Amino acid sequence: MKIAIAGGGIAGTAAGYLLSSQGHEVTIFEQAQHCGPIGAGILIQPIGQSVLKSLGIYEEIYQQSAQLNFIEALKHSGKRLVQLEYQRLRTDLYGLGVHRGRLFSALLTLAKQGGVVVQEDTRIVAYHLSESGVSLELESNDQTEPFDFLIATDGARSGLRLASGIVHHSVEYAYGALWTTGVCTAVDDRLFQVVEGTKKLAGLLPIGNRECSFFWGLTANQFDRFQQQGVDVWKSEVLRLCPQAEELVARINSLEELTFTTYRSVSMKSWSAERIVFLGDAAHPTSPHLGQGANLALEDAWAFAKCLKQETDFRTACLLYESLRKNKIRFYQHITRWLTPFFQSDGIVKGWGRDVTLPVMCQVPVLREQMLKTLCGFKTGWLQSKVGER
Ligand SMILES: Cc1cc2nc3c(=O)[nH]c(=O)nc-3n(C[C@H](O)[C@H](O)[C@H](O)COP(=O)(O)OP(=O)(O)OC[C@H]3O[C@@H](n4cnc5c(N)ncnc54)[C@H](O)[C@@H]3O)c2cc1C
Repeated sequence: MKIAIAGGGIAGTAAGYLLSSQGHEVTIFEQAQHCGPIGAGILIQPIGQSVLKSLGIYEEIYQQSAQLNFIEALKHSGKRLVQLEYQRLRTDLYGLGVHRGRLFSALLTLAKQGGVVVQEDTRIVAYHLSESGVSLELESNDQTEPFDFLIATDGARSGLRLASGIVHHSVEYAYGALWTTGVCTAVDDRLFQVVEGTKKLAGLLPIGNRECSFFWGLTANQFDRFQQQGVDVWKSEVLRLCPQAEELVARINSLEELTFTTYRSVSMKSWSAERIVFLGDAAHPTSPHLGQGANLALEDAWAFAKCLKQETDFRTACLLYESLRKNKIRFYQHITRWLTPFFQSDGIVKGWGRDVTLPVMCQVPVLREQMLKTLCGFKTGWLQSKVGER
């Protein structure tokens, strides 16, 4: 089949490679002028690692990542809030902290080597259905030839989601994050976070090469205020909460060197319609507090390719895909939506409740096991067993 993919991010490149290797003719349309290695650090969980293994790029990514044995969150007082060690679930488990750019470069190379055509600097603004297929309307006012179907992997702010007319519910969070990456040797074996109530959050995610991805939670209004007050006010506030970030923060000379991102959570009634299917963040963006977005995007790509191999008719493949993925995605959407205000929101009650319950939950074996399974991406583990079979 002739397949168009809207958006060459993690889900788009992974799906492109998998479908091309099944013999389909795949074109990725990417709005960026050049597909480059940009982005923050991401935590690839054991489930995401399984997909990388099945794509054949795990070793390459592993060599360029940091192996993380646990996640740790402290209160500003230094008291421990969370400590979850992967090995407590299984001795061979760990997280991989990786620069999104490195993961993306490996996926893009794979897709191109697999015969996928990547059309950069091409923004899709709409799509049109006809007897002969689905054509894409581009920002340049051109219209593409018809494709058999369209895979929408255009990310959290997907324009195709709206264009599809599929009913969806969207929540914008007031809080987002400022983030950057740089050399930081204070933390190298764990995802490290410090919180003060629910209004202050700082974190360091090691990503290999002695580097960390640093993030600082705040609202757009707070970001505006820091821009007026200047970078030094921001730096002193950061170092008061998270002195571990000093090496990295010391090199920042202006807030322009950081990227500000806000989050949204969207649930769609269905992930497919006539000749279109949504994967990755385009289908189910969440806040990054549970660190699952890229993992779910990789799994989506893998699962959809598997479904299209089994059911050669597009519509039937979409229905199979939805039935297989629904429970897991809904679980991660709910838990992330529930968890987010306990880490970033206004008010004091949630922070207080979190500070009392989380340390206890980490100590109770049965609860700790469930938390670790959730973190690893093992809840509703259909894919886990299927990837293992390959
Ligand atoms: C600060 C931060 C930290 C995060 N940390 C983690 C983490 O630790 N672990 C984790 O698993 N996830 C994390 N995530 C989430 C993760 O980055 C995303 O879930 C993941 O990138 C989703 O992949 P995707 O391919 O669906 O979308 P994206 O990677 O966003 O790709 C979408 C692509 O579509 C392109 N595009 C958009 N619109 C159009 C258009 N109209 N036409 C053509 N192209 C278009 C974009 O340019 C982009 O290349 C984090 C996210 C943020 C913001």
